[in-house]
Amino acid sequence: AAFKALARREASRNANINVRAMANLAAYEDFGKNVFTGSVADEYLKKHGASVELLKDPSWVKTAPDTVANAVFDWAIDRGVNVYCHWFQPMASSGVRHGLTGQVQNMMLKFDANNEIQKDFKGKTLIKGETDGSSYPNGGLRGTHQAGGYLAVDTSSPIFCRGDTLFIPSAFVSYYGAALDEKTPLLRANAALDKEASRLFALLGMDTSSGVQANIGLEQEIFLIPREEYYRRPDLQLTGRTIMGKNAPRGQEMCDHYMAPLSSATAALACMQEIQDECWRIGIPLKTRHREVAPNQFEFAPLYGSNTTQIDQNVMVMQIIEEVAAKHGLAALLQEKPFNDVNGSGKHNNWSIATRDGVNVLEPGDVLKATGNDDAFPVIMAAIVAAVDENGDLMRAAIASPGNDFRLGACEAPPAIVSTYLGDDMTNYLEAFMNGKSAKYEPGVKTLDLGTREVLPFQVPAEDRNRTSPFPYGGARFEFRAVGSAQNVSLVNTVLNTIAAEKFAAFAERIEAGESPGDVAREALKKHWKVIFNGDNYDEANQQMLTDRGLWRIDSGVEAIAQLTDSKNIALFEKMNVFNGEELAARQDVLHGHYIGTVEMEALTMIDMINQHVIPSVKAAGVGPLAELEAAIPKLKEALGAIHAANSPLEKARLARVLRLETMIDIRDVCDSAEEVVPANLWTLATYKELLFLDSHTVTEPEYFGE
Ligand code: ADP
Ligand code: MG
Repeated sequence: AAFKALARREASRNANINVRAMANLAAYEDFGKNVFTGSVADEYLKKHGASVELLKDPSWVKTAPDTVANAVFDWAIDRGVNVYCHWFQPMASSGVRHGLTGQVQNMMLKFDANNEIQKDFKGKTLIKGETDGSSYPNGGLRGTHQAGGYLAVDTSSPIFCRGDTLFIPSAFVSYYGAALDEKTPLLRANAALDKEASRLFALLGMDTSSGVQANIGLEQEIFLIPREEYYRRPDLQLTGRTIMGKNAPRGQEMCDHYMAPLSSATAALACMQEIQDECWRIGIPLKTRHREVAPNQFEFAPLYGSNTTQIDQNVMVMQIIEEVAAKHGLAALLQEKPFNDVNGSGKHNNWSIATRDGVNVLEPGDVLKATGNDDAFPVIMAAIVAAVDENGDLMRAAIASPGNDFRLGACEAPPAIVSTYLGDDMTNYLEAFMNGKSAKYEPGVKTLDLGTREVLPFQVPAEDRNRTSPFPYGGARFEFRAVGSAQNVSLVNTVLNTIAAEKFAAFAERIEAGESPGDVAREALKKHWKVIFNGDNYDEANQQMLTDRGLWRIDSGVEAIAQLTDSKNIALFEKMNVFNGEELAARQDVLHGHYIGTVEMEALTMIDMINQHVIPSVKAAGVGPLAELEAAIPKLKEALGAIHAANSPLEKARLARVLRLETMIDIRDVCDSAEEVVPANLWTLATYKELLFLDSHTVTEPEYFGE
């Protein structure tokens, strides 16, 4: 209120004041009021005889659901909210439209017999919902006639309000408890990590009584393009990417978009500001915003935190980005490769493991302080190195979203070969440790002296950064850089946590049986040293060398997905209680189905675009490859027919991949050669020039003071 009053006063006094900035401060004053945690929750729980302590133990769901429901109800009504939903994440690896969540929105009020308004929101309404379990992709876990699906509140991620609606993050399972969603396996993987990491770290001398969790921070890349041009591209509207389109004469060769000013002359800045405001209001701190490498490409990064909350927030951020973009005359593209020959979009998954009271076990100094044990850190690193070497196939499967077909290995994202970069100092330290020499990890700092009087010498970390590695270590976290922008990263983190948990368990078992932690770690490092690679992963000779070393390399996402049911992986997931074999088979079918569906939509869109746009333009112009264009249609239809006729989801997906990466690329060349010769006034599709370089839009200032 104080900020708002100040903003109003300043605005009326001085027309030049940055009203927008003042109003932002007003919004920040409300930061977090729409999230039911901390002091906000405490205030309302106190009115019902409890306190926020109640929420710390998940068993409130059994012991005090009505108390929490009453507090949530009062808070919601105070926030102007009268609708609730159990909010869940159906199984699907990625989506290019409408976010990645499911929900049915219900009123929290009803009329009684006297037509008086009454509350309709009890403990049992809060903790559990029911929905149709068979209408979502379920890989055969549910038949149309066996529709029972249940939604159970996830106590690890806070309830929040947006607009008139209360969102209750929920897990979604079948009548028999099989995971039908992205969240359930992640929660199970978190449980495995908590258990096995606590067990191993305690053996290394750490106090793990608070429990152990994974923390993540997700950098989200997007494109923002003019909306009217988007409507002139059926492919962008229906599939999220351009399936044809001649390169503009200018691409990203000047590197002049990366980190360039977010000019107020473009709609993008106002759009990004409003996205940040919307996110702040629901407790999501999008700390960083900047332009990315490709024209019209941008990035947001939040502050990191526990993985369930971060993922819930990321899927909401993706939705908010799409919604707010439309208000600014822009269309947001979340797909991994919307445009040929300029960079695509990723979602770097920064990942670390920490005790709940804050010891980051990927931070060597933290670990030494918490254990007093010089061997503790190398033991933990050895387990992770071993996990990555053994299970690179699963890491590859987790990033096999359809859009990543066009990114991985294309000199803009790491290749489909899974290695890890540790940096010179860390590598030397672990090598000395492995060879039994006593070593200390003292990450050097070096001083940069520019030799000028005005810029004084300053210190930088001695470790360089490696952008070409799929999984570089960065001092206190690993950064999984090959993840796709359109993905729900639950499976990514389910895999990371499960493979780490399994190695922690294996180490713990041997140490409990009497072996020394150092010996166990040394043996593992020797066996898995090959997965460490600090060089340039974009270099083809290096790629060959890594392949020859026997690292996991799966170029095809379709084949990577098929690894989910490899016997090694079924055993791994079953042992860690994350997936059973049936759930893995179902998930594999769903992911293949998602891929096939994506390619079908793309091929059908291509047929329409050729028939309705390219051929008419070529005919009108009297120039261009008409016969070849006409011949393309039956080719596409035939390929679709062959996919339909194939027997299994895997076979269909293999054919779909050939259609997409061979047939459709050849046909695209024909379309693009037509675009090259048809006069601009006869070309009816938006061009790359219009999609990527038309950025001077009028800024519409949103309303601030209209409460
Ligand atoms: P960079 O460009 O170096 O990758 P950014 O600042 O763009 O850095 O993004 C880094 C992301 O990593 C942020 O979301 C940040 O919150 C997150 N992050 C930083 N430290 C950790 C950590 N220990 N564990 C998990 N995520 C982290
Ligand atoms: Mg990054």
